[in-house]
Amino acid sequence: MRRSSVVVTVAIGGLLFTGAGFGAAEGGTISVQRAATTAVPGVPGGGAKRAPRAVATTVQQAATKVALRIGVGAPQYDSPGGTVPTIVTVYGVPRSAKVTISATGTGGSTATCAGAVWHNPLRHTASRTCYLRLPNTRGSYRLTGRAVVTMGTVVRKVSGAGKRPVVADGVASPTAMTAADIQRIERCGNPTDNVWLTFDDGGSKAQVTSILATLKRNNVRARFLFRGDWARRNPALFASIRAAGHVIGNHTATHPALSRLGRTKLVEQVGRGTAATGTPKLLRPPFGAGAFTTRLQNVARSQGYELCRWTTDTYDWDGPSSATMVERIRYGDYRSAPISAGGVILMHGHGTNTASGLQKIIDAVRAKKLKLQPLR
Ligand SMILES: [Zn+2]
Repeated sequence: MRRSSVVVTVAIGGLLFTGAGFGAAEGGTISVQRAATTAVPGVPGGGAKRAPRAVATTVQQAATKVALRIGVGAPQYDSPGGTVPTIVTVYGVPRSAKVTISATGTGGSTATCAGAVWHNPLRHTASRTCYLRLPNTRGSYRLTGRAVVTMGTVVRKVSGAGKRPVVADGVASPTAMTAADIQRIERCGNPTDNVWLTFDDGGSKAQVTSILATLKRNNVRARFLFRGDWARRNPALFASIRAAGHVIGNHTATHPALSRLGRTKLVEQVGRGTAATGTPKLLRPPFGAGAFTTRLQNVARSQGYELCRWTTDTYDWDGPSSATMVERIRYGDYRSAPISAGGVILMHGHGTNTASGLQKIIDAVRAKKLKLQPLR
């Protein structure tokens, strides 16, 4: 038996270890003796757990007076094995700067950024959507965003993680969702370049009546994904939405986080949700929880549904002004991508300024030379 006495340095779970390696007899592969490992002195992160990154990292350089900072927004929870979309935003970006954004995950999670970077010239931000694939084990995971900002001849790098981790606390979904499925679910299966407007949950009679009138006046067909319990409490109002020619989707009976429900309760929630019309029939998971899990996708399909999330979020439930929602649709910001062809805008029947701001929202989509799905 031959023995070679090589020293191997190997990274395990982000920690650096070094140790005496032993060449396997005749095989040629090198094994590492974990027992003999010691920390590498002088290597950043070596041998000790790194302290959690600060909320955001501020980089100040004398070369430029620009203060760059990174923020990461993400859903708070989902299923182990699921994928969650996060928006990485660089703040303090001059109008003319070129920005590239990438990301990494912690604790065995992985991050992939996709699509273009969007710039908001009013907020001096640049953002991109990055997808954090959660590992199959329960726990808390963070995404660290990294950006390279080029301003003329000055190149600056900045990185930072989000305030809150994404907690994998739901029912596990071990099989990864494909990028193609994620893209289709974001667009709710929209096969056209038309923009789809969607209204969730429910609303007052005044709000719903106003939304229907604005849609009719503008010849726009929308998708209503109202709660099953709302439809049961408001049968006449619900019937008027259908009668107006809009598409009905399913948003469950009572709006639970589907990532946390077992199969029996899932089927029950879908069964008591509003029966969908159109093809494919759409199921929108409340809070978007579980939208990118194959487990939920399989249960939805067994009930005749395809999952539906959104591409542009107005955050109207949070009470923004119509001007802020229009800005989000036009440029995108730290909370949402801007609208583009074939995209889906998320709104709520009960949004404080949704019904009153709907005309401006429709005008903002059309100002981008995009078409909305016509009612007739
Ligand atoms: Zn909802």
